[in-house]
Amino acid sequence: MTEILIRNAAYVATMDDAERELRNVDILVKDGVIADIGTGVASDGEVIDAKGFLVTPGLVNTHHHLFQTLTRAVPGAQDSLLFGWLQRLYPIWSTLTPEDMYLSAQIGLAELALSGCTLAADHMYLFPNGSRLDDTIAAASDIGMRFQPTRGSMSIGVSDGGLPPDSLVEREADILEDSIRLIDTHHDASEGSMCRVSLAPCSPFSVSQNLMRDSAILARDKGVMLHTHLAENDEDVRYSLEKFGCRPGQYAEDLGWVGDDVWFAHVVKLDAQEIDLFAKHRTGVAHCPCSNCRLGSGIAPIREMRDAGVPVGLGVDGSASNDSGNLMSEARQAMLLQRVAKGADAMSAREALHIATRGGAEVLGRHDCGQIAVGKRADIAMWNITSIEMAGSWDPIAILLAGPQKVHNLLVEGRQIVRDGILTTVDLPLAIERQNNRVGALLE
Ligand SMILES: [Zn+2]
Repeated sequence: MTEILIRNAAYVATMDDAERELRNVDILVKDGVIADIGTGVASDGEVIDAKGFLVTPGLVNTHHHLFQTLTRAVPGAQDSLLFGWLQRLYPIWSTLTPEDMYLSAQIGLAELALSGCTLAADHMYLFPNGSRLDDTIAAASDIGMRFQPTRGSMSIGVSDGGLPPDSLVEREADILEDSIRLIDTHHDASEGSMCRVSLAPCSPFSVSQNLMRDSAILARDKGVMLHTHLAENDEDVRYSLEKFGCRPGQYAEDLGWVGDDVWFAHVVKLDAQEIDLFAKHRTGVAHCPCSNCRLGSGIAPIREMRDAGVPVGLGVDGSASNDSGNLMSEARQAMLLQRVAKGADAMSAREALHIATRGGAEVLGRHDCGQIAVGKRADIAMWNITSIEMAGSWDPIAILLAGPQKVHNLLVEGRQIVRDGILTTVDLPLAIERQNNRVGALLE
């Protein structure tokens, strides 16, 4: 049995059912699970002194495209709307290899971990040159992060009226066959699982309705979740109206894509009726505020969604439409954006932190994660409250979104993967060097 005692934490934002905030308490971790919270807790295991620290649940990232960490700030894609941005990047992505997929996932996940993330979903929807979802699963396993890889897909190329080039689309039978292989090989539904696979056709403008429907049937048969992009901007909604004769919410409902086993990325352009639909079915949303700003997509109606009861988590989205993968700064952006839209009381820092932790865990169906509570998985972030960003603060929990910029210690399933601000599981300088060398080769 392995034990870690987090001793005398100055502050704990538990995100438990009572939203308790604790002072000067110990947290005992046994075999990956939070076993005790209190004062004077005894342990024979490793002790982490938490006197100058704020402890929160690990952050949860509900939407990413890890392969895009190789294509940050690409000239020609820096200032485009969604469709033009995609058309610039598709040809570059078509040259990526399995090694690139591993490397970019490693960098993306390392960046997330250093921002306090313990559980990440990834949406990989193109598989050039023999790339497989297994490449990113290997990267997550090597880092030690809890992972929810989604088997994305594109089946409608340019010649069939879709957006992606024909060279990047797959046959639908092949997509479904590989989905079955991945679920059978990697999906673990058990409590405390480190890897759960989901199915994720890329978007209404890159797959057929048949594939959407078949993916939903397969997902329910196998007991896995469903994910895709929806209602990302006005172009996206216009495409839906012109091509399918309905708004995105109706499109999703008609194809069986509503329920608590479904979560959508972005949904910036949901109307009141669609919000009610999502709330009724407990359909989840991955809110990606930085990406929405970067692509000029708009401000998602998160206040209305939360008030209606729609489950909401955060996503950094791919690095090609964010330029960063820092989940804590994403939480801050979420708070700020609702205030721009609705006023200074539209979202508190505590609500944004809730969305970034427990909210995300619930969107991903991970009710065993996202809280500092006895019996929950030991996914724990420790933030240094003696840092310069905290100096002068009257309320460390309220200011956390503004810094420190990096987590000090991070536990996933009770394993310390960040220690004193350093990732313990990856040679990060080497990985960065490899990544930059690869970008140099892509530029040639
Ligand atoms: Zn996305």
